Amino acid sequence: MLLTFLGSGGAWIIPELACECMICKAMREGGEQRTRTSLLLSGDKTILVDCGPDIALQLSRHGVKDLDAVLITHEHGDHYLGLDELYSFKRALPRGRHVPIPVYVTAKSWEAIGLRFGYLAAQEVIRVVEVEPGEYYQIGEIIFSPFKTSHGPIASGSVGYMIRWQDGLENKKLVYTSDFDDLPAPPREIYSPDYLVLPTLWFNEPEQNAPYQLSFQRAIDFIKLWQPKKETFLVHIGDGDPVPGDPANSMLKKRKPLAPLRSPVSHNPYPIPMTQKQWQDVVERVLDDFEVPFKVTVAHDGMSVQM
Ligand SMILES: [Zn+2]
Ligand SMILES: [Zn+2]
Repeated sequence: MLLTFLGSGGAWIIPELACECMICKAMREGGEQRTRTSLLLSGDKTILVDCGPDIALQLSRHGVKDLDAVLITHEHGDHYLGLDELYSFKRALPRGRHVPIPVYVTAKSWEAIGLRFGYLAAQEVIRVVEVEPGEYYQIGEIIFSPFKTSHGPIASGSVGYMIRWQDGLENKKLVYTSDFDDLPAPPREIYSPDYLVLPTLWFNEPEQNAPYQLSFQRAIDFIKLWQPKKETFLVHIGDGDPVPGDPANSMLKKRKPLAPLRSPVSHNPYPIPMTQKQWQDVVERVLDDFEVPFKVTVAHDGMSVQM
């Protein structure tokens, strides 16, 4: 099974339009970009997890000509606004040949998404399959189950997905939480996954976590709790951490840290990572300093992993 991170950013592409903060500047200088987070699973079937507004470019970059299914995690624009692009899969076939693409989504999320994209189901571009947390579904060799996540009052349909498949004699498991700030009653089955994908919108937990998201600082607790066996990937990375000395810290999106992560040795706060390399370096340093023995990789756009 090949896992491709089509995008690795938060709700807005970074470097963000009209943003001259130090993070966006550093990324521009290095030619880096994080588009909206989306995952592609390629095994006996091709499965897309989340379908944000960058999806046409993301899929064409990877030469994807066909999709067998789409899994949607929740009703926030960065996770579904690209659904109309799926029309291309119908338009590119002779009349009457398109088989509607199954889109798996909770009833609550579809209530919101359907207001805008109901026509895609009516015109048989997609076929909506409503999913329930705790139930199991199968697409080819993959068995998956949604689990409820807490991601604030305007994403009440929000779920993560536990995805299982057989690799030779080995049972493999991937857990993708998508956006969340808490998990009220995590099902037993999401513990000890082989692979875990967590969002880290900020490096430090902000004083006010209004968008109900996870920071790397808090992600550490979930990694320790869930004990991923092979590798954890960080996605949904934003530019909301204030960088000391940056005049752009007065921007609305910059969130003051609650109690920034500090080195247990020097007691100095860790530097705010800006580029891909800085993210990976500081994440490894923190895990090392706090003796958290798990492999954590900061995902970047286009990164593929053979699972
Ligand atoms: Zn999001
Ligand atoms: Zn969200």
